[in-house]
Amino acid sequence: MKRVVCPYCGFGCNLLIDPATLKVKPYKGEPNRGKLCPKGLHATEIVKSGERLKRPLKRVGSSMVPISWGVAIGEIANRLLEIRELYGPDAVAFLASSKVSNEENYLLQKIARLFGTNNIDNCARLCHEGSVHALKLAVGTGTQTNPYEDIPKFKSVLIWGYNPAETHPVVMDYIVRAKRNGAKIIAVDVRETRTMAFADYKLVIRPGTDIVLANALAHIIIEEELYNGDFIRSRTAGFSEVRMAVKKYTPEYAERVTGVPAEIIREVAGEFALAGSGAVMWGMGLTQHVSGVENILAVINLALLLGYIGERGGLYPMRGQNNVQGAAYMGALSEFLPGYVPLTDEKFRRRVARLWGVGDLPTERGLYLTELWEAIEKGDITALYIVGENPAVSEADFMMVRNALKKLDLLVVQDIFPTKTARYAHYLLPASAFCEKSGSYMNSERRIQWSEKACEPAYDSKPDWEILTMLGRALGLPGFNYTSVEEITSEYFRLFPELEEKSVEELKNSDGIFLPKKRLHTWEFATPDGKARFIAVEWIPPWEDPDEEYPFVLTTVRLIGHYNTGEMTLRSPSLVRLMGEPKALISREDAERLGIRNGDWMEVKTRRGKIRMRAEIGNVPGKLVVVPFHFKANRLTSPALNKAGTPEFKFAAARVKKI
Ligand code: SF4
Repeated sequence: MKRVVCPYCGFGCNLLIDPATLKVKPYKGEPNRGKLCPKGLHATEIVKSGERLKRPLKRVGSSMVPISWGVAIGEIANRLLEIRELYGPDAVAFLASSKVSNEENYLLQKIARLFGTNNIDNCARLCHEGSVHALKLAVGTGTQTNPYEDIPKFKSVLIWGYNPAETHPVVMDYIVRAKRNGAKIIAVDVRETRTMAFADYKLVIRPGTDIVLANALAHIIIEEELYNGDFIRSRTAGFSEVRMAVKKYTPEYAERVTGVPAEIIREVAGEFALAGSGAVMWGMGLTQHVSGVENILAVINLALLLGYIGERGGLYPMRGQNNVQGAAYMGALSEFLPGYVPLTDEKFRRRVARLWGVGDLPTERGLYLTELWEAIEKGDITALYIVGENPAVSEADFMMVRNALKKLDLLVVQDIFPTKTARYAHYLLPASAFCEKSGSYMNSERRIQWSEKACEPAYDSKPDWEILTMLGRALGLPGFNYTSVEEITSEYFRLFPELEEKSVEELKNSDGIFLPKKRLHTWEFATPDGKARFIAVEWIPPWEDPDEEYPFVLTTVRLIGHYNTGEMTLRSPSLVRLMGEPKALISREDAERLGIRNGDWMEVKTRRGKIRMRAEIGNVPGKLVVVPFHFKANRLTSPALNKAGTPEFKFAAARVKKI
């Protein structure tokens, strides 16, 4: 059996794959301890799909024609060099992937920077980049602070804008164990989620009012002196600013704005504070708002008030894709070098440059993924190289993105399937699937895990690292002589002091290596003075208000059996059977008013477009329509960005009608 990292969510389960049959069993070690969700269990179904990209293709007129690997890479490299010559390196952008390995993300960002641009980003921008910004401001590192194994030790778990029962099913095992050990489970969301079935407190708030609830909880903790004075005095700064800022967020005010009764807010504040320890977990429900960074800061303030850090608590921004943490850590972000080191850190930047055989690297921040489309429209970006991402479906207001893609002089798409984005490509390069190659991945808890190759690449596909090695060499970049993936692993190990002494063999023979270590901030924070920062935040309402024409709020969610833009899971017969037809959820009262019955077709429309989907009548608040995002829901979503460049996927004014 080969041990392979699951290609789906950021929890990082290990699958045991039989190379002869591709049958999957759960790995009994860390982190999944013998458990898998349906996606992991059926992960190999897509590998031998007849719909795989089979050979390199080049656009000739309106057709895609086969071409050899050598010719494809040579032509792409020549075109990129011509564009650099004509318009400069910043006319080219590279899009890395949260679904490919550390080595592959490392190579693509290395190509971008040696080519001369920081226009390198990945879809962390669409999900947890707000968490990175908020965590760096508050505690100095942009990542999850504690391992999963700590969750059952804590006496409370605050789950905010996060539905692990569907998005990270195996995490639920840790939460249920915490509950069995006596922890109070508090869940906050805009509708009653499956996760709430396990919660002691179910706080259903009006969409976009998270800061008001968090500040009201802080208000009570401060007014009733439930905070941890020793921790605040010795390990934090900025308490008095937060004390002042939350004064006006009384529970009564919060009840009017959020809809949660003041009495419940008081009770929850007391329970959470008196628990003595707590995990604070969040997901896209917090980050995908124009107030995404501030939402997270408001929630981090609660953990700092109570000293729920290190041994007594942890901050858990739960990552969506299997290597979103690794992609970011390897430097596939336009504002950071590997390890989230700012581009302006001259000492580190020159060290990286030396390792790569050059004098220095570009220092200007590159474009965020979400800024690319306007830059293409303006003619500032003329070439885009995409590895394993599908912005024609994953981006907010995707018709705007599709129009931009048509204007590129060069679009290269490297993927396992002909995605919707591939329709706009000038070159299509077939990449190997997750179990057809080896490499390392980093899960949400920062555990680097080795993933073994279980079978040969299908058709004429190649591992992404091999394709990128060919590209780097064709571009004439120094050091692109890799003959094995392990050589790239060893190279990125040299960038991190914690890994310098480790070997790839050690990684292969372990249940993973935590980078930089298992538990962060136990004694001091990663800020210049070692203290965490309270940062006062005020409520920022959503970008778009519902009105007479668009009276509903549209929010998007994930389903247990599907993944992102559906290109993988919608090609898995077992998952398609399991999940059935997608449905948009509305309340009973809205359904009655609009004459909609369960299973009727309905239209959901926003200012950007419309989709049709069958109706499901369920337990959601009135004037809320909940749409799974795997089925082109981003035709509807709002492109308004927060400070970290993440769109407001979770809130759009919408109209619903029976059709
Ligand atoms: Fe585990 Fe997530 Fe894969 Fe499910 S999708 S098996 S929870 S890693």
